[in-house]
This record gives sequence, structure tokens and C-alpha cells, in this order.
Amino acid sequence: MALPTDPTDFSLAEAREAVAAKKISSLELTAAFIKAVEAARPLNAFVTETPERAAAMASESDARLAKGVVRPLEGLPLAIKDLFCTKGVRTTAGSNILSNFVPPYESTVTQNLWNAGAVLLGKTNMDEFAMGSSNETSHFGPVISPWRSRGSNAKLVPGGSSGGSAASVSANLCLAATGTDTGGSIRQPAAVTGSVGMKPTYGRCSRWGIVAFASSLDQAGPMTRTVRDAAIILKAMASVDPKDSTSVDIPVPDYEAGLESGVKGLRIGIPKEYRMDGAPPEIDAIWNKGAQWLNAQGAEIVEVSLPHTKYALPTYYIVAPAEASSNLARYDGVRYGRRAKDVHDIVDLYEKSRADGFGPEVKRRILIGTYVLSSGYYDAYYLRAQKLRTLIARDFTEAFRQCDVLLTPATPGPAFAIGEKTADPVSMYLNDVFTVTVNLAGLPGLSVPAGLTAEGLPLGLQLIGKAFDEATVLCVGRAVETAANFTAKPQKWWRAA
Ligand code: GLN
Repeated sequence: MALPTDPTDFSLAEAREAVAAKKISSLELTAAFIKAVEAARPLNAFVTETPERAAAMASESDARLAKGVVRPLEGLPLAIKDLFCTKGVRTTAGSNILSNFVPPYESTVTQNLWNAGAVLLGKTNMDEFAMGSSNETSHFGPVISPWRSRGSNAKLVPGGSSGGSAASVSANLCLAATGTDTGGSIRQPAAVTGSVGMKPTYGRCSRWGIVAFASSLDQAGPMTRTVRDAAIILKAMASVDPKDSTSVDIPVPDYEAGLESGVKGLRIGIPKEYRMDGAPPEIDAIWNKGAQWLNAQGAEIVEVSLPHTKYALPTYYIVAPAEASSNLARYDGVRYGRRAKDVHDIVDLYEKSRADGFGPEVKRRILIGTYVLSSGYYDAYYLRAQKLRTLIARDFTEAFRQCDVLLTPATPGPAFAIGEKTADPVSMYLNDVFTVTVNLAGLPGLSVPAGLTAEGLPLGLQLIGKAFDEATVLCVGRAVETAANFTAKPQKWWRAA
């Protein structure tokens, strides 16, 4: 295997081989990434860098390697979205209200990664409480995408809410990162930064220790530079967990082993309702190309219908805020997080702590959520949204009678400029039009880089699978990746900034 000369250009799989073959030590590899993270501070991709911890974990890996004990991610440096609780390392959820929160425990997913030998480089920036599609709602400021339009220096968004993770992966600041996806927050930022992102089936990864947004929709997943790397990381992240009763006790397959099985004989469904009026022609073009690529490799393309698609965004924007309003009730300034000063009684303490602690988008969601759950409106909004959710899920069950995997665009367009959509929440919400359906139905979805716009910005394709059939989704994703041969990388302009 011919390895790149700069270790930050390694894929995770390449780094794994290089470390295991002792071509590079974990400490050398980790040092290269620590330097890359420092040099990339203009991107604002990290809320907290943990170079000392990284070096200590890397040295421990090197000691194990010297003894010949190699765990699946031995000595491999990762970035972790700041929504995963990390014991002894500040975890902010991108919010002022948690800006001083140092968890006394570790999330199950990150614990699984450390048990597999991975190294923590730091915690990545994100939209506040994972609410957003551009990383602009973070208390710690926006993340700047490593990508720029051809011939322009305008700052673009990296997508959201896992924007710091997406920027880190695409700028080679880590080998891979974790994200969470409630309505698209892994797949949309992956798509607009030319990265791979997977939201597994609801229940595949434990939610324990992940700051909750909308508990019936939230799922953790990998963000990587290749489909193989996503397969490797997902295997390590996933597990049943007695601390999360919604995690599911079914075996986690060796996703990597099945990656190259090919798509011959598979039926790929094209949902006709995802062809939207007014969508940029580049989106349709890349979608058609994706179908041709799979067809050329022996898959059969079938048109399917998901008739309730048009209700998905309105349904999501009732269900998600309703759950968020309940989940976020715990931030009261008493038990943990920021506590307002100069208060005259307990109610004043709650009100001031929450007023100072939450940003405008979070407040908007709490207001919507409490409204749709309140007496007199519950039946009109929340209950109807729940019924629609059932119909949306049923659409997928019907569609999967005719096909094995669905192919759709990942996003309705490429990355946009910072500030372009902040004044209009509804246009921001539209970013998730192709992804929220998947969360409402609890299914696995994968976004794979597929091409560039005329301006040189990445576009992704999404593959949606049957529940717990991540293996087939990844295998089809690998076929798309092979055909797309996406090799574009952002220019490292931040090094000079
Ligand atoms: N953009 C969507 C929202 O703001 C989805 C976010 C997510 O998946 N966490 O709710």
C-alpha cells in the first residue's frame, strides 16, 4: 500500500494499517493531527482541544502496540461532537448554559470508542443543542467551512448541526469524527463538505450520555472521509446498552467485511416525491448519475412512492420541538450548568438562568414545543404529528417491498454563505427536506460525496435502508463512492490566515 506522505492525509483504514505495521507510532500520528488542529483555528471547528489527553492516550496505545495487543482503533485520533459527555472534559452542547459543564461520566458511544483504542483530539463545535443546519446557532460562534466557491473568498457554512465534526473531517484535522443526527445533522454537513456521514437505525447506538435534543429521533453516527472508514467506526460505536432501553440487542455485523459485495441484483428505489419543483438542476443531475452508476454495476432501478413526504418537515418541526421543550426543562441553573447571579428568589433564578443560558433558536424551539403540547393544542398539533409520523414510516415499509435501498439527494443544494439564511428559519429548516423522513421512520441513512457544483462545491447522495440493514446501505454506498471517484479537497487557505 502506497501511503500519503503527510499522515493527516491518511484515511482511517490507512492509518490503522500504518500504526499496526509500526510504520508510524500513534504518538507521531497524533502529534501531526494536534498540529493540524492548531493551524486550523480560523475554522473554529473545535470548542475544546485536548492535546495533553490525546498524547497520553496515544502513548498508552504505543505501549500496547509494543506488546502486540492491537484493538480495532488502536492509537487512531478522533474528534468528538461536543454533545457527547466526556468524563473530565468540558461538554457544552454548543450552549452558554452548559459552558462550564464538566461531566462526571462518559457517554456509552465514546466509551466504546476508547475501549477500541481510539484517541481523543478534542470536542467539536456544533449548533446549540444540535438545533440548526449551518452551525451558526453555536454559543461559541460559527464554524467556517474549509470549502470555498471557485474564485470567491466568501465564508461558507459547513452545514449543521455537526458542523465542527464535518469541517474537521474534510480539512483532515482528525481521522474521523462522531456526529449526531435528529433530522439530518450528520448527513447534511457531511454532504456539503464532501464527507461521508451515516445515521444508523434508531437503537443501533446507545444514546446514553449524549445531551438529549429529541429523544425519539436522536442517533449517533460516524463522519469520515471514506465509506470504509464509516463502516469501521460504526462497528466500534454501536452496542446494546442497559443504560438506554431503546438500544437494541441484535448483533452488530462486521460492516467492513461486506463492503465490496457489490450491488448486482439489488433493487434501488427512486422515490418520485423527492423530485422537487424548484430544486437546482445540479441536484437532479447528480441524482440521475447516481442511479446510472448503480445500474451500470448491476443494480435494478425502480421508481417507488413515499406519498406522505410533503408532511415530513411540518411533522418534524412539531415532534422535535415538543421533545426538546421537555428535555431542556432540566436546565434550571440549580443542578448543573450556568446559574444566574443576583436573583431574589427561585423563580427568578430559573428565569434568569434560562434567559441568559439559551440562544434565540433554542428559545424558539422551546416556545413551539410547549405550545404544541399545551392543553387545547395537543390534539390539534402534537397528536396529528404523531399520526403523520406513523404514515411516513408506513410509506417506507411499503417502498421496501419493492426495493432494497432508496437513493435520494442528500440536500437540496450546496453549502451557502454564513448569514445567508439566518434571518429566515423556514428556509433554514428546508435543508433537511430529504433527511428528516429517515429520522421519523427510525431508518439508517448514509450520505456519500458524489460530485461538485459548477462553483466547485460538494454535493452528496443519500442511501436509505431497511431498519438494522446498515450493511447493505454501506455496501451500496461503497459502490456509489467507487463510481463517483470524488477526490476533490478544500485548499488549505486557513494555514495562511
Ligand atoms: N436541522 C435540524 C434541526 O435544526 C436537524 C438537526 C439535527 O439533526 N440535530 O432540527
